[in-house]
Amino acid sequence: MSTSIPEIYGSLVFNDKVMKERLPKDVYKAVHKTAKNGTHLDLEVANTVAAVMKNWAMEHGATHFTHWFQPMTGLTAEKHDSFISPTDNGGAVMEFSGKELVKGEPDASSFPSGGLRATFEARGYTAWDPSSPAFIKDGTLYIPTAFCSYSGEALDKKTPLLRSMEALNKEAVRLLNLLGDTEVTHVDTTVGSEQEYFLIDKDLYKARKDLLLCGRTLLGAPAPKGQEMEDHYFGVLKPKVSEFMHDLDMELWKLGVPAKTKHNEVAPSQHELAPVFETANVAVDHNQLTMEMMKKVADKHNYACLLHEKPFDGINGSGKHNNWSLVTDTGENLLDPGSTPADNTKFLVFLLCIIAAVDDYQDLMRISVATAGNDHRLGANEAPPAIVSIFVGDELQRVLQSIDDGTIFKSTAKKEMEIGAHVLPHFTQDNTDRNRTSPFAFTGNKFEFRMPGSSLSVADPNIVLNTAVASKLEDFYKAIKDVPEAERADKITALLKKMLDDHKRILFNGNGYSDEWVSEAEKRGLLNLRSLPEAMPYFIKKKNVELFEKYHIFTEAEIRSRYEIFLENYSKTIHIEALTMLDMVKKDFTDALVKYQTDVTKEALSKRKLLPDAKCRLETGILDTLDDCSEAIGKAVEKLEKDVKTAEAESDQLKLASFYHDEVLTDMDELRKPVDKAESMIPGDYIPYPTYDELLFSLR
Ligand code: ADP
Ligand code: MG
Repeated sequence: MSTSIPEIYGSLVFNDKVMKERLPKDVYKAVHKTAKNGTHLDLEVANTVAAVMKNWAMEHGATHFTHWFQPMTGLTAEKHDSFISPTDNGGAVMEFSGKELVKGEPDASSFPSGGLRATFEARGYTAWDPSSPAFIKDGTLYIPTAFCSYSGEALDKKTPLLRSMEALNKEAVRLLNLLGDTEVTHVDTTVGSEQEYFLIDKDLYKARKDLLLCGRTLLGAPAPKGQEMEDHYFGVLKPKVSEFMHDLDMELWKLGVPAKTKHNEVAPSQHELAPVFETANVAVDHNQLTMEMMKKVADKHNYACLLHEKPFDGINGSGKHNNWSLVTDTGENLLDPGSTPADNTKFLVFLLCIIAAVDDYQDLMRISVATAGNDHRLGANEAPPAIVSIFVGDELQRVLQSIDDGTIFKSTAKKEMEIGAHVLPHFTQDNTDRNRTSPFAFTGNKFEFRMPGSSLSVADPNIVLNTAVASKLEDFYKAIKDVPEAERADKITALLKKMLDDHKRILFNGNGYSDEWVSEAEKRGLLNLRSLPEAMPYFIKKKNVELFEKYHIFTEAEIRSRYEIFLENYSKTIHIEALTMLDMVKKDFTDALVKYQTDVTKEALSKRKLLPDAKCRLETGILDTLDDCSEAIGKAVEKLEKDVKTAEAESDQLKLASFYHDEVLTDMDELRKPVDKAESMIPGDYIPYPTYDELLFSLR
């Protein structure tokens, strides 16, 4: 059977096209309006939509529906109900009402609420988000929903994201209208998130407790070959991996996820998938689906897909680049500088508002990507440092410089090509370097935030970004709104200059991985929040609480609850890792260590029987080193066990997380050293789980 891709694409999605075809005109219009402006939907309208949706879903084999939501675990959650409704005569009809579509009431008392539900009510509600299309997966109709408490506190990641998009929309439209763009009535946040991941053999994965339970290896001597040859990046896809990617694309396309680019990444067995960008809300939903599908399709192909930020020590971890921009309903990308950025006032206003936002809220940007997993990555060699800075590229830097100096900017963009043609390159890619080490880089017509970890819900960074930028747009609006028309241009220029002066410390075009940058950033007064426990206290700072409250993104209670949840999550993660490591070392590794030493000893003794004068240097050398390792392992195990016990008694979440970071993680590093050293001397047959060389180079 050959079906064309355009036919397959979105075939399992209740998208605009389907709605247009199947809904009565007025109902379609009402849904559209609700999706766009968040207006209330009549129950009658909802009933019609539900009935049409159900029929469509059943035609596609669905028997169930679920309210799909994104609790603060960062994962997705779902509970399936069938359409079945028994009738009096012992039969059944398939039913789905408007009420069921619009609102759900999952018994959700086990989702993290950071104390919110204890103070309010045990029930949680899910509410249909008509701006993200419903879809069918595994015989169930999935309805994207927001999840909140009885009294309306957000218990999820979607609610604040939608609120932040709305805040940004409102402020951007108002400012644009004032700047003369009177046609614009809506500004959308667009997001494209490039997703990195590892693929390893499923059987090998299953044979390692650390991968199974923690998603990363806690032990393991480096393989003789790592990524030093740089032969994997953009390398030829292995046929089986290629098949996996093809399958993944197909599954995603059916769900309307616009998977676009796929390639090998830097580390062995590491890959990337990039979608075409979409409205932030839909992009976040689609990224969650992408991660889920990666795991599912991998399983079918006998692979395990690792989404952890640092599955292997010594080689690159995985991130997720959050490409972000703003687009008007008149079709203009507000971060497109055009060919003469210096003359593009609108662009410069938005650019400086973003620069100011990122500078003032660097702490929140850092916090938005803080997880136990991502802490292993940020500041390590391959990822952006934990310091937030902005790269704008040379040409834009010169534009900004001229604002600062009060001079007229002369573009160097006009280039004569050898063939004699004049090219005035559209500003974009041509003039922005590809700085790979910047955490927040201008890449032609969008910003790319590179700090998010691979398993993160990209809702978090976008909530912060949208809200912070909205606040700067509002400030700007207020500063110019009462200025007489004739003086406005001068006022804008003066404001831009002032903003640049105030915030230029955040601009950095150099190498973000260098040590010099760390000390330079410190001199500039930029934050360097190396770990989650170090960063978290900033979350509840007054200026941040005020920001979120002002734009109705979070109430103070919601912030507090999130603060608790992030800390708790961090501690729990490391707690599980510590226990897993102890288990592997005490049982599996010790067994190998003892067996190998016994065999070497036996071998030496039998050699002595045969050759009484034999020195057995090799054997004694091995035994000597392994004996040292054993002793070090014993001590490190003892220390780690003691600290885990101590941690279990601590109840203050911040103290606990700090303790896990400062003590427990350090203990784990100390334990890993002698284990890895011993492992590097013990033949593979003795080690009861697959080693790094097998894990990383097993795929054909
Ligand atoms: P790379 O960062 O690897 O060079 P690309 O330049 O191909 O990648 O783009 C990366 C991502 O940026 C893609 O997911 C793409 O859809 C997204 N992107 C492009 N334009 C925009 C935009 N205006 N808003 C948001 N994302 C965008
Ligand atoms: Mg990128």
